[in-house]
Amino acid sequence: MALVTFTPLGFYCAQADLYIDPLRKVSKALVTHAHSDHARPGMQHYLCHTQSVNILKLRLGQRISVQSMAYGESVWMNGVEITLFPAGHVPGSAQVRLIYKGEVWVISGDYKTVGDGLTPAFEAVRCHHFVTESTFGLPIFQWRDQQTVFDDINAWWRENASAGKPSVLLGYSLGKAQRILKYLDRSVGAVVCHGAIAASNIALQESGFDFGEWKDASGGLASLQDRGIRTEESLIVCPPNALRSSWISPLGRYSLANCSGWMAVSKSGDWGGVDRGFVLSDHADWPQLLEAVLATGAEHVHVTHGFSEVLSRYLRETHQLNADVVEKGMLEMQGE
Ligand SMILES: [Zn+2]
Ligand SMILES: [Zn+2]
Repeated sequence: MALVTFTPLGFYCAQADLYIDPLRKVSKALVTHAHSDHARPGMQHYLCHTQSVNILKLRLGQRISVQSMAYGESVWMNGVEITLFPAGHVPGSAQVRLIYKGEVWVISGDYKTVGDGLTPAFEAVRCHHFVTESTFGLPIFQWRDQQTVFDDINAWWRENASAGKPSVLLGYSLGKAQRILKYLDRSVGAVVCHGAIAASNIALQESGFDFGEWKDASGGLASLQDRGIRTEESLIVCPPNALRSSWISPLGRYSLANCSGWMAVSKSGDWGGVDRGFVLSDHADWPQLLEAVLATGAEHVHVTHGFSEVLSRYLRETHQLNADVVEKGMLEMQGE
């Protein structure tokens, strides 16, 4: 039997009796990162990277039982050596390598190979079996370098501020938000965060991440003026659901932008209900996926999480790899 199998509960290493990013309640769960499609509640014991502990507790409860590991540190479970390596996806994200009797597997979770200056950069790990995501596994997905994107975001913000209009930027509360925060030009105005993002920020700062100064708007946007913050010059980062609540109403008129890999497939001039779209993703684009797969030297590649049919066929036909699709139904993709 293979060292890792694909079960209805998720990736399973029977020898270590360990699940990786399991879908349902199990006894031992190794969690690659704290996004909700990977870190689910109800596990008896969690294992994750040291810098994921705070954010995992924030999301799943302070009382969870969690053991943590640094990158490159190994633990042994019933003869299986388990080691984490940087995945470059979001703060605290990790790939996991399992070795038993010479057989080497790497389950990469979500990743990007290009460093973002916030999360430790992806490290290619040699293995026989590589499990890869394929969220943006189509040749049309090719990202520009992040500085170009941040220059665009700062220019948009500056333009709004000089017109006296607040700027509202949508971003997931773990990863995307902090990556944006790190590169905003504070000379334009104040950077303000919705409560959900503020809570993540604090958990991540306590884990050692630094993404510059920001103002907490947990107490509501109306209170900002009292604190001497000029909302018309501010950039406000919030998760998409904040727009459907009364939280946003004190702002009045504002300019709205979204920051996502999916903006790459929006028709120009139509950003799906926002005024402006910026293409920025914490997932690998097509060239990065190929680069990552080939760098592992793996002869077996298991593709999940996205355009798995396309990527696995390409790897078979162009690179003569044994590539297959991880059974549908095993992993329900959320795309965070
Ligand atoms: Zn993720
Ligand atoms: Zn994911």
